[in-house]
Amino acid sequence: MLIIGRGRLITLDAEGRVLEDGAVAIADGIIREVGATHEVRGRHPDAEFIDAGGRVIMPGMINTHMHLYSTFARGMALKDAPPRTFMQILERLWWRLDKALGPEDVYVSALVPLIDCIRCGTTTILDHHASPMAVPGSLDEIARAVGEAGIRACLAYEVSDRDGEDIADQGIRENVRFIERCRREGSGHLAASFGLHAQITLSDATLAKCREAAEGLDVGFHIHVAEGPEDVEDALAKSGKRVVERLDAFGILGPKTIAAHCVHVDEAEMDILRERDVNVVHNPESNMGNAVGVAPVLRMMGKGVRVGLGTDGYTSDMFESVKVANMLHKLVERNPSAAWAEVPAMIFENNREIARRVFGRRLGVLEPGAAGDVIVVDYHPPTPLDPSNYYGHVLFGMSGGLVDTTVVAGRVLMRGRRLTGLDEERITARSRELARRVWKRF
Ligand SMILES: [Zn+2]
Repeated sequence: MLIIGRGRLITLDAEGRVLEDGAVAIADGIIREVGATHEVRGRHPDAEFIDAGGRVIMPGMINTHMHLYSTFARGMALKDAPPRTFMQILERLWWRLDKALGPEDVYVSALVPLIDCIRCGTTTILDHHASPMAVPGSLDEIARAVGEAGIRACLAYEVSDRDGEDIADQGIRENVRFIERCRREGSGHLAASFGLHAQITLSDATLAKCREAAEGLDVGFHIHVAEGPEDVEDALAKSGKRVVERLDAFGILGPKTIAAHCVHVDEAEMDILRERDVNVVHNPESNMGNAVGVAPVLRMMGKGVRVGLGTDGYTSDMFESVKVANMLHKLVERNPSAAWAEVPAMIFENNREIARRVFGRRLGVLEPGAAGDVIVVDYHPPTPLDPSNYYGHVLFGMSGGLVDTTVVAGRVLMRGRRLTGLDEERITARSRELARRVWKRF
């Protein structure tokens, strides 16, 4: 048994309890007890003890839309003129980068952001992968990295028609194969969705094929939805329908489906997303950086659509995404009181519900029976911290760089900011070598 205690413990449970001198006890990967430190320790005097020393103990963060493969884009020069539209960003950056990836690139480029996740206290991610020249087995390469890192990941391969029918078929087979692997293994660390790039790169025939291939696999799809205005124009030209309507016609939308972005959706599309119980994931930094627009997430949430928070590969630090989401919607609404309820709901309630649907277990809360995913943040609150205001402390006092200890399923992955399992220097050295080669092929 592992006990993490003597900290200000934010449970994120239904009552929003905050314990002034709290402890959490984990055994066999599951939280067994949450309570006052002296009581929990008194019951288990032989348990290993991590002393938080008055700092904050809270559940690990969840990122519901990630691209581990984006690592080698860091610091890379584009070969064409700077992109001016979202399509140009895809054509001039991502669709060239992902084609340059081979199996080892996929593995190492996953390890690097997984280290970032551990460092930032992100203990669960939902990833969306593309490597069109190395499709078969690519999800196993990421799974190998995930296994070594020790966090939880739901993986998916982005099926797309942009490189022809054969590669689209390879993507379908990769999803099906990996979904079956996850089902066979039943590990709490790995899960799978059926990945689709976006409707803009998917023909009717391929969408129908994907729907058919996913039949009976009991997973949802993970797809970019209405990210740029081009996606809407394309859907209307191809089908006479808007993006959400077109996807709905192919049975892509359901309670396990992840619809990333949803920037350009109208009222009728929001109603469909709610009716189909779809998980929308908001990626504020990506939307701002790609200049695609502002997702109407406050409107969606007002209508009862579940909206989670992701990073789209921009960062692994969910504290950062919380800050950006908070400011973005206040600015857009020209209302300093906007988004006070919605952003904490995205990060703390909706992300764990999305993760529960995908992993089939309770994550993102410190209470008995939930997964033993816990972080210690090097933060001594300078003002009272209580159930009514912990979000204010998260927003204005904490950041991923302050995460001191990261524990997943009771396994300590980082303590005192030192990684316990991965050799960061060796991994980043190899990453720099591989990146140099990828940049040449790019
Ligand atoms: Zn994305």
